[in-house]
Amino acid sequence: MGKTTGFMEYERIEEGYRPVPERLKHYREFVVGLDEPQAKVQAARCMDCGTPFCNNGCPVNNIIPDFNDLVYQSDWQSAWAVLDSTNNFPEFTGRICPAPCEAACVLNVNDDPVGIKSIEHAIIDRAWAEGWVAPRLAKHKTGKRVAVVGSGPAGMAAAQQLARVGHDVTLFEKNDRVGGLLRYGIPDFKMEKSHIDRRVAQMQAEGVTIRTGVVIGAKDDPLGKGSRVTNWAKETITPGQLQQDFDAVLITAGAEQSRDLPVPGRELDGIHFAMEFLPQQNKVNAGDKVKGQLRADGKHVIVIGGGDTGSDCVGTSNRHGAASVTQFELMPQPPVQENRPMTWPYWPYKLRTSSSHEEGCEREFAISTKEFVGEKGKVTGLKTVRVEWKDGKMIEVPGSEQVLKADLVLLAMGFVSPVSPVLEAFGVEKDARGNARASTDFDGGYATNVPKVFAAGDVRRGQSLVVWAIREGRQAARAVDEFLMGFSDLPR
Ligand SMILES: Cc1cc2nc3c(=O)[nH]c(=O)nc-3n(C[C@H](O)[C@H](O)[C@H](O)COP(=O)(O)OP(=O)(O)OC[C@H]3O[C@@H](n4cnc5c(N)ncnc54)[C@H](O)[C@@H]3O)c2cc1C
Ligand code: SF4
Repeated sequence: MGKTTGFMEYERIEEGYRPVPERLKHYREFVVGLDEPQAKVQAARCMDCGTPFCNNGCPVNNIIPDFNDLVYQSDWQSAWAVLDSTNNFPEFTGRICPAPCEAACVLNVNDDPVGIKSIEHAIIDRAWAEGWVAPRLAKHKTGKRVAVVGSGPAGMAAAQQLARVGHDVTLFEKNDRVGGLLRYGIPDFKMEKSHIDRRVAQMQAEGVTIRTGVVIGAKDDPLGKGSRVTNWAKETITPGQLQQDFDAVLITAGAEQSRDLPVPGRELDGIHFAMEFLPQQNKVNAGDKVKGQLRADGKHVIVIGGGDTGSDCVGTSNRHGAASVTQFELMPQPPVQENRPMTWPYWPYKLRTSSSHEEGCEREFAISTKEFVGEKGKVTGLKTVRVEWKDGKMIEVPGSEQVLKADLVLLAMGFVSPVSPVLEAFGVEKDARGNARASTDFDGGYATNVPKVFAAGDVRRGQSLVVWAIREGRQAARAVDEFLMGFSDLPR
């Protein structure tokens, strides 16, 4: 434990943000991380608990008390080694993780939790700056070939782990760049894409072969009819071919099928899925030309869906220069302060205000859209009604109907399932929600019903978090390694 009385002496220090007028002019990151003295003070607040709930609250089980202590002792390189032992990409999670570890921190029972995420952020940025993050080459080659399908955080973590124990890994990605939703979902202002590029270079140096623009699926219709997912791929490889060429296949294809809102007027122009809108801006930021880019300039934008994806649409619309931005949420407004004794150490139910909300946004809670209205085929507004929840049932409030003006509507109501043909093409059984059926048991974990085919990440658990994708990628890598070699030294 760094400083025995630190938790009584020091307050939590939040990372700073650049001012709103300044950050709205660009798409770059605007979080100002802790400097070294601030990080040390924050680490000094850690109590090195006998039962560190933070470690259990963290999906990759980061060894948080240890790296906190090492930061307090100014031993940054050892702190990085501890962090690196459980998390392949702390620069991703240190930026965009909602930090369930902090909700679980023992200090959070009656005080502000240790700023674990800000310490993680400081450690990994320091590690890159010092040159400690380097390719880790396998000591020997196994001669086994593994195909990983989908290059989001789950696929990246799995590919890196498998290459480090000597397998020949090929990472297939239908998009033109690696990263999954990190690349073409999460906006650059939350996480710049150079962080992914650096890891891709590291993975290539470790022996991972990357093949972008290749979709795995049926030759004639790899993404399935009716799929709203853009197919940028230039080449299709069938699952049969992959199973023939590789000793094991790991599917990490995500859960990209957006939830729709099939109410009258849905066919009007100006109503789009968030995942049509957000990837285009990320492409433009990367220097690509996007013909007819969906833009919000001067428009009244309504975002339907109160989660992270919706919040990202708010931030992007404001950067485009929208006339107004309103975000709808079906559920009632949560309390500003959670009921800590009831929720700790679990994820608390409370109002969350993101940096995008702070940049300008009206938030409407307990509101439902009955119909889209329009003129000459273009959306002009939404017919809405207020709702109440009784005994778990939604009831419309009589007389609360109103029409709200909108020229651009973005649907951000979550994701229902993977783009299913990839599972069907492999013959992988699905669970009730349409995700790949594969258990996470220690024995035979992540294996599907199809011999030598495994599944991990959002494609298995449904749309989730980057940190869960990294955990599943790491664990699935161990399962594949055990399947190929009969044992594995990779961590669980
Ligand atoms: C807008 C948005 C914002 C988010 N914000 C956050 C956040 O702030 N924090 C957080 O923790 N999480 C966030 N998430 C969730 C997070 O991004 C995902 O949970 C995570 O990326 C899942 O990782 P994955 O590797 O399982 O799948 P994905 O990241 O979805 O990657 C799957 C990859 O597989 C590829 N693929 C699919 N089918 C095929 C095929 N047949 N052949 C070849 N390739 C294929 C896809 O193109 C994709 O690149 C957000 C999600 C969205 C959409
Ligand atoms: S629960 Fe909080 S105080 Fe306890 S070890 Fe973890 S970070 Fe430190």
